[in-house]
Amino acid sequence: MDFLPFTRPDIDEATIAAVGDVLRSGWLATGPRCREFEARLSSFAGGRPVRVVTSATAALEMALQIAGIGPGDEVITTPLSWIATANVILAVGATPVFVDVDPATRNIDLDRIEAAITPRTRALMPVDLAGLPVDRQRLYRIAEQYRLRVIEDAAQSMGASWNGQRIGQGGDLVSFSFHPNKNMTSGEGGCLVMNDEDEARLFEKLRLQGVTRLPDGTMDVDVLGGKANLTDIAAAIGLGQLERLEAFNARRRELAQRYFERLDPALGLELPLADFVNGNWHMFQPLLPLARMRMTRGEFIEAMKQQGIGIGVHYPAMHLFSLFKAHGFKTGDFPIAEDIGARTITLPLFPAMRDEDIDRVCTALSQVMKPVLN
Ligand SMILES: *Cc1c(COP(=O)(O)O)cnc(C)c1O
Repeated sequence: MDFLPFTRPDIDEATIAAVGDVLRSGWLATGPRCREFEARLSSFAGGRPVRVVTSATAALEMALQIAGIGPGDEVITTPLSWIATANVILAVGATPVFVDVDPATRNIDLDRIEAAITPRTRALMPVDLAGLPVDRQRLYRIAEQYRLRVIEDAAQSMGASWNGQRIGQGGDLVSFSFHPNKNMTSGEGGCLVMNDEDEARLFEKLRLQGVTRLPDGTMDVDVLGGKANLTDIAAAIGLGQLERLEAFNARRRELAQRYFERLDPALGLELPLADFVNGNWHMFQPLLPLARMRMTRGEFIEAMKQQGIGIGVHYPAMHLFSLFKAHGFKTGDFPIAEDIGARTITLPLFPAMRDEDIDRVCTALSQVMKPVLN
């Protein structure tokens, strides 16, 4: 039987042909396909300005710059995310302030945010882990009360919604990722949804050397920009994917539903919150009952691999990485995130999976776990 990875992008022939058209056109860098991609993403975000870049990491770092966040400022975020979330805070010279997660949602615990706010706090940076949105009403109520910016790391929640409104259609600065493991891809890429054209103009400068083109054909540079503009090759992939996003997410929901139906409760796996309204099921992540298992997570992953099934780990709590320990964080600081990070596994879930693939994963889980459960 073929190896079943935990995720795999689904690129159709029309998209492959569209990439071929770009390659034949003579224009490979930022051009008409990028502008079209931005226009489509803007419609997706309810008409708000959207600009694309080479990664969500770049988009988040530039979002912090747009919000004027730098040395001496604190940004509140979750310790349970891809490392990019906290890295960009360090990259602009600001200080990440972690707040432990809610065990039910595994997202930042909204009840604990206020205790972490200091006079230096400038922004909240929520993450919608596995595509399950943070409660936007409560989040923005806190932000308004304390006059904080919100930089939504919505890398995983493209197409998810809160209270019937798509993530990105409201809020402050919202970043999405188009890395191949996300719900839609452009090969690599990301975007930022902004509030107005002034922010979008600054973003355009930051992504390309600070350059402003002048009407007389010359240019000026008035801020230090980097190099993060997207290619038309990537935009052609993104355009093909955006068209299919709703269908992709609908299929993900069906497959997640099947996991809930087919996983054997006797295995003692702690399942994710069964939200079939708001979430986009970017990942399906049970927690292993390690205290009851005569097997480590590493051994479990290896045993599943022997069964032909790929298992991911997203993510170990990031305050325990050496870089953050060097900033003073230690074991025990955020016990819920640490526990989830130590036991989480990502099961295969991607739109091209068949129903039988879910059953195959469930059978393999039983075969691997039953003999080692106390
Ligand atoms: C993937 C991801 C990012 C980074 O996205 P890139 O496009 O790879 O830079 C940031 N935050 C979260 C939560 C992610 O999942």
